[in-house]
Amino acid sequence: MTAEIIYGDKLAESLRLEMKSEVETLKEKGITPKLTVVLIGDDPASKSYVSGKQKAADFIGIDSTLLSLPTSTTEHELLNTIDQLNRDTKVNGILVQLPLPAHINEQHVIEAIHPNKDVDGFHPISIGRMLTQQETFLPCTPYGILTMLQSKNIEISGKHAVIVGRSNIVGKPVGQLLLNNHATVTYCHSRTPNMTEYTKQADILIVAVGRANMIGADAVKAGAIVIDVGVNRIEDGSLTGDVDFDSVKEKASFLTPVPKGVGPMTITMLMKNTIKAARDQAE
Ligand code: NDP
Repeated sequence: MTAEIIYGDKLAESLRLEMKSEVETLKEKGITPKLTVVLIGDDPASKSYVSGKQKAADFIGIDSTLLSLPTSTTEHELLNTIDQLNRDTKVNGILVQLPLPAHINEQHVIEAIHPNKDVDGFHPISIGRMLTQQETFLPCTPYGILTMLQSKNIEISGKHAVIVGRSNIVGKPVGQLLLNNHATVTYCHSRTPNMTEYTKQADILIVAVGRANMIGADAVKAGAIVIDVGVNRIEDGSLTGDVDFDSVKEKASFLTPVPKGVGPMTITMLMKNTIKAARDQAE
């Protein structure tokens, strides 16, 4: 079997076109969605993520502002900045680019963002709403993965989904979203012994660890749907995922590539959340 490749970049492109016309309609009603991105310091990876987000916003017609603050910014100063953005009625969505310098407590910052402007979907209120299946901002990477599965009409209900990785931003919430869609969910992590015993049972396998090519064909069931979230820079400078693409492609029924897979979808869902924020706040 050769897997059908789910190209996130192509799907992202068509979704962004749809959002562009949605924003045009909103603008005719006097609503211009506005996203403010806060970047602390000058980490090159963070800078590149932020510029990807701004490019997407520009294309769609979302008004995006970058607030670039020095590494020396204190937690108190950052919390004050967030407080001002929370009060600014023109700002619909606030995103603080993670990771933050070690002297700033990430959780304090996440919880300072007003839940109505939490377009990253990381606030405990957003997570709690997702858990209890209320309307909310879904975290962007899990939301992107769900959208990729839905774009191929992949049935989730009744499937065994195995998630490798349990971070708050990817592993845990993607498992929860699949559970909400009636999958049976198993989580694997660094303390899971004999992990391939679980991964080999997966109808849907989601890998979000950050270890290049850690999942080979021997860890995958024939016909499985495999979503590779990992992004790893290897020695030759190129990017690769957590899944050994070439071997798994010959065994899976669907597979996402790295790059051009989940990454572009993450940014796209951030835009979707920002439009939702603008709509909700206008009502
Ligand atoms: P974290 O480092 O926060 O979490 C990694 C998870 O992997 C942890 O739960 C950890 O387990 C688990 N893990 C580590 N080693 C093993 C192992 N040997 N076997 C099984 N599980 C293991 O990472 P993130 O969730 O933030 O990101 C994961 C990857 O996805 C990274 O490569 C990141 O760059 C990428 N990413 C891509 C995005 C995209 O849009 N494409 C968005 C976000 C992330 P434990 O909890 O026990 O420590």
